[in-house]
Amino acid sequence: MRSPSEKAAAFTESVIREMTRLCLEHGGINLAQGFPDFACPPELKAAAKEAIDADINQYAVTWGAPAFRQAIAAKVARTYEGWSVDPERELCVTCGSTEAMIAACLALLDPGDEVVIFEPWYENYGPDAILSGAIPRLVTLHEPEWSIDEAELRDAFGPRTRAVIVNTPHNPTGKMFSADELGLLAELCQQWDVWVFTDEIYEHIHYQGEGGHLPPAQVDGLQDRTVTINALSKTYAVTGWRVGWTIAPPEATSAIRKVHDFLTVGAAAPLQAAGVAAMNLPAEYYAGLAVAYRERRDLLCDALREAGFGFALPDGAYYVMCDTSAVDPAGDDVALARRLVTEIGVAAVPGSSFYSDRSKGASKVRFAFPKRLETLRAAGERLATLAATADR
Ligand code: PLP
Repeated sequence: MRSPSEKAAAFTESVIREMTRLCLEHGGINLAQGFPDFACPPELKAAAKEAIDADINQYAVTWGAPAFRQAIAAKVARTYEGWSVDPERELCVTCGSTEAMIAACLALLDPGDEVVIFEPWYENYGPDAILSGAIPRLVTLHEPEWSIDEAELRDAFGPRTRAVIVNTPHNPTGKMFSADELGLLAELCQQWDVWVFTDEIYEHIHYQGEGGHLPPAQVDGLQDRTVTINALSKTYAVTGWRVGWTIAPPEATSAIRKVHDFLTVGAAAPLQAAGVAAMNLPAEYYAGLAVAYRERRDLLCDALREAGFGFALPDGAYYVMCDTSAVDPAGDDVALARRLVTEIGVAAVPGSSFYSDRSKGASKVRFAFPKRLETLRAAGERLATLAATADR
């Protein structure tokens, strides 16, 4: 048999989804993959059922049902003062933010282009760049605050740079990109004529209060060079619905729409109809979401601290990237993650899966907390036995 393509050979299977499989095998509590174990808002379920009853069963408009695009644009305008999106020319509905990111990469990058990616990273970005023929150029986020070194960032940009991928709030670190950091990016992107692909799937899940999240599309100098990527997945607890979107200037949107058409044709029509109900939820929904996530974060972080893990408290998203030096002096994140799931019954992700140089993540694991409080309490009880199993 002929070998697989060089592109497919250039990256490995997702470690996160692999941990989920192992967790199922061992009946563990899955704090590896970031999906909620609680219900989505009832308004979404009612609207989805209604759409199916109304026989909304055929292809929606390829780049998104008009009512859904209008509802997204209206919600953006309500949420961010001064941000106006044209649903006819600046929006493309996709199958989750996963498709949104790869469609943006395929539409706007050429082989040989360089893409600046911050590491640790959400594991899709490397393969997204590689599948587009582009070359990832990595910039480290430095502990303890996951900060950017200005000189390193400047050094990463050059004539071959075509895009930078931002993810704020950030998975896996919980970092929120500050106005100063985005200002520096704006300067560099203008200087080198670079796109920003910004993954804002956690826009409403943060612990900074109102105004805490700053979308790059609202930063001076980035308005006309930003592709904003988002989805229903996390904000409305429907990761399995696979509905997301891009917001980008019209020329970029035309290119993204073409790529999207040939990748997937379109996202599920009845779930786009339900997406209108999601966009129409009141402001209180988002305030309640942040409060509930803060409680989850604090509960899990207390348990992790007790169990001997070190970490900077995440400012946003629903993950905590832990230093494992105290619980795993050997510094073998993969062995520790295996032990956690097979002996303790809690799945986490080995830190090395967030770094290109895997040794940088050898003393780290990531836990996710989009779970009911009772799930997190049960995980905490299991984690409390970690020291005892180490002594065996
Ligand atoms: N982007 C980030 C940063 C994520 O953490 C995730 C899921 O964990 C995704 C994208 C996937 O989003 P979707 O389910 O909408 O494809």
